[in-house]
Amino acid sequence: MRRFRLPSARAGPDRPAPGARAVIPFVRDMDVAYGRPDRLSPLVRRVIANNPGPFTFTGTGTYIVGSGLAGEVAVIDPGPDLPAHLDALLEATGGQRIAHILVTHTHADHSPLAAELARRTGATVHGLPAPIAEESEVPVEEGQDRAFRPGALVKDGDRVLGPGWTLEAVATPGHASNHVCYALLEENALFSGDHVMGWSTTVIAPPDGDMAAYYASLDKVIARGFKRLYPTHGPPVADVAPFLAAYKAHRLEREAQILDQIAQGRGRIAEMVPVIYAGVDPRLHPAAALSVLAHLIGLVKSGAIVCDGPPGPTSVYRLP
Ligand SMILES: [Zn+2]
Repeated sequence: MRRFRLPSARAGPDRPAPGARAVIPFVRDMDVAYGRPDRLSPLVRRVIANNPGPFTFTGTGTYIVGSGLAGEVAVIDPGPDLPAHLDALLEATGGQRIAHILVTHTHADHSPLAAELARRTGATVHGLPAPIAEESEVPVEEGQDRAFRPGALVKDGDRVLGPGWTLEAVATPGHASNHVCYALLEENALFSGDHVMGWSTTVIAPPDGDMAAYYASLDKVIARGFKRLYPTHGPPVADVAPFLAAYKAHRLEREAQILDQIAQGRGRIAEMVPVIYAGVDPRLHPAAALSVLAHLIGLVKSGAIVCDGPPGPTSVYRLP
């Protein structure tokens, strides 16, 4: 077991630009020990996988739902197919039965261990298969787990029950087209996957990532008034309403900056990115360009801007 504390500041393409008003109250401090079950509430434990990285922060946080005293538990986002992580999950749930495995989406840091964990425990795997859409050219996210085969295809509102706990599926496309969050009704809490993360903004990478869908899914979560978020990466978010308000305001602010660039005659992504992301490491500009493209696709869809042909990375965008 290895313990470390990460620095609380981190560079990322979606850090607020200088002068930006929407400051997201990120939560990043956590005491990480790979393989150790951390109790976060009477019904929730978390085991972190040893796969830290630019998209996973300290690693994938796999949640175990159920009191842990006896009976059936559920596992949310089993994570990467690492033997040590499998052993840690089996050890943490010794004496209980893993009856259900729920997957938020099929990026490779979330779902691959589901198959082996289900084989070892007989659990039902809930989720949605990987989308058919091509993956984006710039690596801004883990790849797709195309081998994922859920035994139960999840629909919005579906419920999975165990002793003392109820999980409800909340369909939240945007980060990924097959993204589903799971609400723990007894705690009015949400396992938010990569839809909302405490440590960072989420990546919306076309073609599978969809900004218009993301906004709708964000509003859906805001409307539920959850008291706590358990993201798959990083610590829980306790002050949910102001966090989500800032999370959304940050996106809208970025969108306003993009519209402003277009109004000033900078209609190509290659012209906008160096201006909007002037304070950001140029190595992150390709990822930023993809995020800008996601905004532009959404703005074309809503009619706020136009371009010739389908919106792409080299299109010229203008006001209608
Ligand atoms: Zn993801």
